[in-house]
Amino acid sequence: MKYGRIYNFSAGPSTLPEKVLEEVRDEMMNYRGSGMCVMEMSHRSPVYQKIIDDAEKDLRELMSIPDNYKVLFIQGGATLQFSMIPMNLMKNGKAVYIETGAWSKKAIAEAKKVGEVIVAASSKDKNYTYIPDCSDLDIPEDADYVYICENETIHGVTWNKLPNTKGKILVSDQSSMFLSRPCNVADYGLIYGGVQKNVGPAGLAVVIIREDLIRDDLKDLPIYLQYKTHADNGSMYNTPNCWAIYVCGKVFKYLKDDIGGLENMNKINIDKAKVMYDFLDSSKIFKGTVEKKDRSLMNIPFVTGTPEQDAEVVAYTKAAGFANLKGHKSVGGLRASIYNAMPKEGVEALVDCLTKYEKEHA
Ligand SMILES: *Cc1c(COP(=O)(O)O)cnc(C)c1O
Repeated sequence: MKYGRIYNFSAGPSTLPEKVLEEVRDEMMNYRGSGMCVMEMSHRSPVYQKIIDDAEKDLRELMSIPDNYKVLFIQGGATLQFSMIPMNLMKNGKAVYIETGAWSKKAIAEAKKVGEVIVAASSKDKNYTYIPDCSDLDIPEDADYVYICENETIHGVTWNKLPNTKGKILVSDQSSMFLSRPCNVADYGLIYGGVQKNVGPAGLAVVIIREDLIRDDLKDLPIYLQYKTHADNGSMYNTPNCWAIYVCGKVFKYLKDDIGGLENMNKINIDKAKVMYDFLDSSKIFKGTVEKKDRSLMNIPFVTGTPEQDAEVVAYTKAAGFANLKGHKSVGGLRASIYNAMPKEGVEALVDCLTKYEKEHA
């Protein structure tokens, strides 16, 4: 590969489109005649204002975000949203959460510090290897929202059919699937994602929130934790994560102009994940851990059967020049994260490597 780069299967921060990195490189010392790098620029300057405005505009176009939704760029990654969501959206102090893996569990733990959490469905019984049936949940009349993690990065399960929220607003953590497929924003009250999985450098979350959910009666909440603060100030109440917003903006443009939108991105992702899943389904050594209908197109956990052999394969892939295939410490095994920017050739090369291992160990 160019520049001595290697195929990087990291779950996050993760691989970015080479074209975007090249543009960033070309603009590093002097951003479009401004005489400075974006890192050195005042966030109050017209040059930077255009960067953030364009990023929002391109994201709105990509996702067809309706006018009654605000797009916010908030620091603190996805993790801060685990707290901001209940703090801002729990009016009655009660919310329904669906437990499908490590990241929804973390969100549940934080929400419990703010109010009452009802776990209406869980896949804990099978170690989070499927998405539970959520067509007829027990949802209290006074629940403020229903919360899901739409793609569990560690356990590798994804929602292909949204839960029936019985009229309550849906809140979704899309961190590890953000912009990987089309999404009907109007189905949600709030969508958010940490950007370092699919769109940019770490330390930033994109929050897409329906306007009527932004409250102005939360005066006792620290000002930075109120969505209203970020909405009223164009995501620049204080100095934002200027650099991350700049890179994300480039990725939005890339998805729009070079990929041709999210329908196309989804097709590419389906085609790419198929290479890996077809291999796992036919392998005698390796097998995927997730129920077929709920398999993620982004994060693919798989195992050999023994922790010793898992470790041997991780070392084998590393020696062959592939990075970050070790599964998360909480689940073990291996995991290939194949986000938007991972080329199909990368997955094919990995499958070749695993096939070679399999032949040598038959
Ligand atoms: C990575 C991840 C997070 C946490 O993101 P940070 O930006 O590190 O806080 C939350 N949810 C999901 C689904 C993730 O994949």
